[in-house]
Amino acid sequence: MKNTVARDYYGILGVERDASDSEIKKAYRKLARKYHPDVNDTEEAAEKFREISLAQEVLSDPNKRRIVDAGGDPMEQAQGGGGNAGYGGFGDIFDAFFGGAQGRGPRPRTEPGNDALLRTTITLAEAYLGAKKDITVDTAVLCSACEGTGSATKSKPVTCSSCGGAGEIQQVQRSFLGNVMTSRPCPTCQGYGDVIENPCNNCHGDGRSLSRRDLVVNIPPGIRDGMRIRMAGQGEVGHGGGPAGDLYVEVHTEPHPIYTRDGDNLHVSATVPMVDAALGTTLTLDSLVGEPITVTIANGTQPGTALREAGKGMPRLRSEEFGDLLIHVDVTVPTDLDGTSRSLLEQLREHRGENTAVNQENGRLFDRLRNKFRRS
Ligand SMILES: [Zn+2]
Ligand SMILES: [Zn+2]
Repeated sequence: MKNTVARDYYGILGVERDASDSEIKKAYRKLARKYHPDVNDTEEAAEKFREISLAQEVLSDPNKRRIVDAGGDPMEQAQGGGGNAGYGGFGDIFDAFFGGAQGRGPRPRTEPGNDALLRTTITLAEAYLGAKKDITVDTAVLCSACEGTGSATKSKPVTCSSCGGAGEIQQVQRSFLGNVMTSRPCPTCQGYGDVIENPCNNCHGDGRSLSRRDLVVNIPPGIRDGMRIRMAGQGEVGHGGGPAGDLYVEVHTEPHPIYTRDGDNLHVSATVPMVDAALGTTLTLDSLVGEPITVTIANGTQPGTALREAGKGMPRLRSEEFGDLLIHVDVTVPTDLDGTSRSLLEQLREHRGENTAVNQENGRLFDRLRNKFRRS
């Protein structure tokens, strides 16, 4: 069984699933301004730009978007990955216009099954490591009693004696225009052209029955919230025991108490006492999988600084690379000064001889604010 992951095109552009065309264009333009090679020439930005351009291309094409909404990945198919279309194409249009028209013969007893969708929730650590998740699926499966034949004796249907296998009955009606030939589905065989003589007791001739199955879904490391994994052939078995559709498993990630994910980067906030921020220190935190990560807080670290630990973020999907970990430093000022602390700080104040003053350069404040927004 081959699992593939449908890219989360909506997530890439940061729009809702019901976003309008103009909302998609707007989101794309906003991101393009940030990641366009002319603006940002890093490797990361180039990759991001490719990603958002692809997402824009897919979501602004109604046909491609329909495939995405059905849980597929149109670009995967374009690259020759196992097609899971099951709709579209001229055949369906033809059927829509001419369905039930005369001379089409009996309707097929066997039809392909529908795709199925279910949701599962994983922890951020599972998204990091990848996981095998047990899922329970309630879908139509091949009837075990008749092996999909619909017959209690597993015998083939016999030609309908009422319509002779045509599936329809023609009648001549008299009208003021003369004799008119009309046809209607044969009531004996419901248009199938054949009859199951001994219908299966379990499925009443449908060839399938509802069943609960336990499956294991393989979740790859780096999967993003809302992505769907396709399990080929694990959907609903079709009428008359027809080939099964696919099963899509939509994977959601629980929020983590410490880490916040943004794409492939992880963010965490750390509180550093004023004195440690001034003198420098080290900070040890547990990674998502419980491994210690030691971060150096340099002397003179300012409140609001974001420290970047390259490669300590989430694994990138279908890649050996990792995103970064960003540690947002918050500096705390003590409020519970005892006598000794107070006198030490007073000595420090004396020694430093610094003044509290209004900033002369307004520009600085705006720079800081701007940088802050850029980071987030
Ligand atoms: Zn049966
Ligand atoms: Zn018939």
